[in-house]
Amino acid sequence: MTAPDPSLLSLNTATVRAQWALPEIIAGCVRHGIGRIAPWRDQVAQAGLADTARRIRDAGLALSGYCRGGMFPALDAAGLRAARDDNRRAVDEALTLGAPCLVLVVGGLPKDANDRPASKDLAGARAMVQDGIGELLAYARPAGMPLAIEPLHPMYAADRACVNTLGQANDLCDALGPGLGVIVDIYHVWWDPALQREIARAGRAESAPGASRLMGFHLCDWLVPTQDLLLDRGMMGDGVIDIPLLRSWMEDAGYRGPHEVEIFSAGNWWKRDPDEVLATCKARHAAVC
Ligand code: ZN
Repeated sequence: MTAPDPSLLSLNTATVRAQWALPEIIAGCVRHGIGRIAPWRDQVAQAGLADTARRIRDAGLALSGYCRGGMFPALDAAGLRAARDDNRRAVDEALTLGAPCLVLVVGGLPKDANDRPASKDLAGARAMVQDGIGELLAYARPAGMPLAIEPLHPMYAADRACVNTLGQANDLCDALGPGLGVIVDIYHVWWDPALQREIARAGRAESAPGASRLMGFHLCDWLVPTQDLLLDRGMMGDGVIDIPLLRSWMEDAGYRGPHEVEIFSAGNWWKRDPDEVLATCKARHAAVC
């Protein structure tokens, strides 16, 4: 593999969220020559939507995605309605920010008022996800905002996402049609024996010829041992994922889009000087991706 095009590097803003607010992250990306970002809704809310949109424009940055919508399953009709309304707001924000897609973390089992799982019906949760995405597509498609399902590692099936493989995400795209795609986050899918085939399937997008479903490629690494189920992602090169191999599968499938670095790391990278983190992201992207 030749080294990746450095202009494809994007920073998912969670990577330095512990150290910097969004305006500082935007300024940091400009300083380090990183041309793309993927911001999170809570950071945008804190900094102000209109202000953030202007700041990103003035900085000359492009977005690689907007994090995130989803969390569709709920215990009752009021919960489903609240999720629907919140997801529509997320689409509106993504449009204001000029995002290429709204990333969906679809949600797990329905939760009670104390945020505890209140059901064991996994198939039912998956059906609510399909219905919820279908309903959101009816809003997002005419507005021109693509939705991108991010399958999450099965360890999150109960609490974050009951779509756990790229095959499952492709099946949803088959069922629900245009305007819907997938994010390949290597942390979540690197272990999947069907990964190469499902990346190729997403690139072909039989249901919408010419329109690839591959809407994003998220990078970090899988550490051994992993100390925390959520907040112990590794920097590229520090773990066991063959990143150039996975990139070659994406490129074979026609993907030419951003390489978004997304690292939640409470014990390591969130404790470091954020300028060091950004410099390391750039160096590792060039050296090991
Ligand atoms: Zn991701």
